[in-house]
Amino acid sequence: MKRLLLLVLIAAGGLLAAMVVRASSLTAPAPLATDDAGPAITLDSAAAATRLAGAIRFPTVSLRSGGPIDTAAFLGLHRYLEASFPLVHAQLTREFVTDLSLVYTWTGADPTAAPVVLMGHMDVVPVPEPSRNQWTHDPFSGDIADGFVWGRGTLDDKTTVLSILEAVEGLLREGYRPPRTVYLTFGHDEEVGGRFGARPIVETLVARGVKPALVLDEGGFMAAGLMPGLSGRSAIVGIAEKGYLSLRLTARADGGHSSMPPARTAVGALSRAIARLEAEPFPSSLDGPTRGMVEAMAPFAPFGRKLLMANLWLTGPFVAKGLAANPLGGALMHTTTAPTMLSAGIKDNVLPPEAEAVVNFRIRPGETIASVTERVKRVVADTLISIVPTDSAVTDPSPVSDISSPAYQLIATTIRRMVPGEDPPVIPYLVMGGTDAKYWGPHSDRVFRFLPVPLGDGDRERVHGVNERVAFRDYSAAVGFFTRLLRGIDRL
Ligand SMILES: [Zn+2]
Repeated sequence: MKRLLLLVLIAAGGLLAAMVVRASSLTAPAPLATDDAGPAITLDSAAAATRLAGAIRFPTVSLRSGGPIDTAAFLGLHRYLEASFPLVHAQLTREFVTDLSLVYTWTGADPTAAPVVLMGHMDVVPVPEPSRNQWTHDPFSGDIADGFVWGRGTLDDKTTVLSILEAVEGLLREGYRPPRTVYLTFGHDEEVGGRFGARPIVETLVARGVKPALVLDEGGFMAAGLMPGLSGRSAIVGIAEKGYLSLRLTARADGGHSSMPPARTAVGALSRAIARLEAEPFPSSLDGPTRGMVEAMAPFAPFGRKLLMANLWLTGPFVAKGLAANPLGGALMHTTTAPTMLSAGIKDNVLPPEAEAVVNFRIRPGETIASVTERVKRVVADTLISIVPTDSAVTDPSPVSDISSPAYQLIATTIRRMVPGEDPPVIPYLVMGGTDAKYWGPHSDRVFRFLPVPLGDGDRERVHGVNERVAFRDYSAAVGFFTRLLRGIDRL
């Protein structure tokens, strides 16, 4: 008995030692060499902020896919960009896609080298009327006050479009010629799915044989509070995007007078179906981008947590359980099930012959539209219920981009230089929402998502919220980011 206990103790000790060794071997990346930062970036930040402010004044609002568009606002913005960035418009080729989206081609010294694609979108979400009076500056004023540019689009995503153009204009002024071709692609309907902007842009470039060495779009960001136990800012870079599917569940049963209901009614059958879907959530898994995320966070975690995060081969189930404790962590690990619409009945004493619900699924990498639909049918398993996709856009999850690629390394290094004196941890992650970058998914594993504006307190809530604004200093950091990134593309 004593011997057995001893053996167990030895085994446990060995296991612990192995865990400690593994945790200790995971160290944060070495500090960046200061002399490697490249030439200084000269930028008149007030002038750049003024140019951004001008772009905010065009109300390029997206309401719904295929819905009415304020064409004049987009055409006005195009003319404004042309006037604000003369060198870009003199030296790059500009094309229009479905009239309102833009593609700029900056031909590289070696046009046969794999090109770089920088993406952004010119449209913005609307400002709901009830929240309008909470704005301290009108959302389309482009006001400059207290060191900020104010208005819809100052974070999402005119700031990307303008800071890319600002960086290219500055590089052209210096006489820089990119070693490989650079495409700048700016969609006009990202906020409603990108079906008429990014999709045809990607199709056009793919048809021309474009195989990018790097694609960068919005998506990830740099902010405080992203990592448990870490007080400073960290940066998350999107390396994959969940898929999107909405299914319509229609229950059909005999209608008639409510005084003599049949054993099964349409409303009852539909309610049971939704309850079943919620009771049987999709299986969770740490595999894929979320495992990479946890492992990348490990070196920065306090030792106890690091021990768990660095040894997922053993601790995976515990870590997964911890993650699943909140909706965000859960969404990182499984396909989510969200009933979003429900309708049935017109009168209290009439049995409706039909009841209908829409359930929205965000599909995790590893599953597909087909596999999710099949599972939903299996779980519901009710002859009274038919299940079909709605007419909203459906997408499979994107492939997972390669974090050992030079493209990811270049982006990570450039992020680490974004704010002088601040070297944030850079963590890959799975994007829950959708970006225009999803259209590149089937064609490239070099697709990354990051908004290079260092975010401060409350900035994340301002995106799609009220009082969206960007500080001059942070906008200049975005211009610096794209300038350094473009100077570094010889390393791809
Ligand atoms: Zn956006």
